[in-house]
Amino acid sequence: MPGNAAVNAAGNAGNATGGPATTGLPLGPVLSLCEPVPDLPEGVLGWTTTRAAGSFGLSSNEPVAEVMVRWDALQADFQALGIERLASAHQVHGAEVASHGGGWRGWLRLRGVDGHVTTTPGTALAVTVADCTPVAVAHPGGAVAVLHAGWRGTAAGILRVGLAELAQRGFAAADCRVHLGPSICGRCYEVGPEVLEAVTGRPAAGKGCLDVRATLLEQARALGVRAITVDEGCTRCHQARYFSHRGGDAGRLLGLVALRSA
Ligand SMILES: [Zn+2]
Repeated sequence: MPGNAAVNAAGNAGNATGGPATTGLPLGPVLSLCEPVPDLPEGVLGWTTTRAAGSFGLSSNEPVAEVMVRWDALQADFQALGIERLASAHQVHGAEVASHGGGWRGWLRLRGVDGHVTTTPGTALAVTVADCTPVAVAHPGGAVAVLHAGWRGTAAGILRVGLAELAQRGFAAADCRVHLGPSICGRCYEVGPEVLEAVTGRPAAGKGCLDVRATLLEQARALGVRAITVDEGCTRCHQARYFSHRGGDAGRLLGLVALRSA
């Protein structure tokens, strides 16, 4: 795997706010290199993988065997925590969110969805990112979601769709906890006026810098979420810790959320 101890130490040091959810858990070799999502409710686990944990991208020119070793190791780490399902997808920058029940074990890779929800204990959900925002959603009543939110997905309302999926099952947005994970910061992300207008809904005269997480934060508040945290990490500014598409990386991070077995 790429990365070294110094990168890992820096990653951990930058994540001092990691919540109590993972404290004391015996984490396997992959998850121990990841940054925990802070302040998750009891029974919910969440992480963002790091450069030190290696790329999980299946569309780079890295030998597929090396990438698959990491996916297998990640599943083994989850299995050691009693989590036997891992759902992911080939993503299309859309706003479709898939729901996952039980009755299966292993690794699922859907096509054409950008978010996942589950209320089934023993299930982990993953999105791949490298500058886009991994959005973790958790409800203390036992429901989780993870969303891939780049500018297109944010403009298309994937956060609204994800929260609506949970609300339909009785898990109100007002009681959900939302975490906006490491992604490209506003200073690093210059885009054209059409992108600015699509995401912010406000007219733009020309190129400008876009902070997608700021828009996601606005959206989350407008949708009634009260408990929101925003990671300070920028995939481009802190490229030693993360993968950045704009920074020229083909590698991909994972945003992970899991519901532990009862
Ligand atoms: Zn930055």
